Amino acid sequence: MKRYDEQKELQEVICNQCGKKLKVEKGILMEGILEVRQNFGYFSGKDGLTQEFDLCEECYDRLIDGFVIPVTQKEEFL
Ligand SMILES: [Zn+2]
Repeated sequence: MKRYDEQKELQEVICNQCGKKLKVEKGILMEGILEVRQNFGYFSGKDGLTQEFDLCEECYDRLIDGFVIPVTQKEEFL
């Protein structure tokens, strides 16, 4: 979950899963997170609903550890 100030500068990022407050310096997030913004469409039970959440890296790792099929991965430097 992200909070912005009146100038729309990032103020705070909190992991939705564990509640950990992530490091933000001068409006820049200084940690890796999973950012999800999902808009559900016609064939879902949530038609027209948009949901958002953020996970810290530890919660992300716990999530993918439960996958039956591992994530696909490759090294990329953005
Ligand atoms: Zn977390």
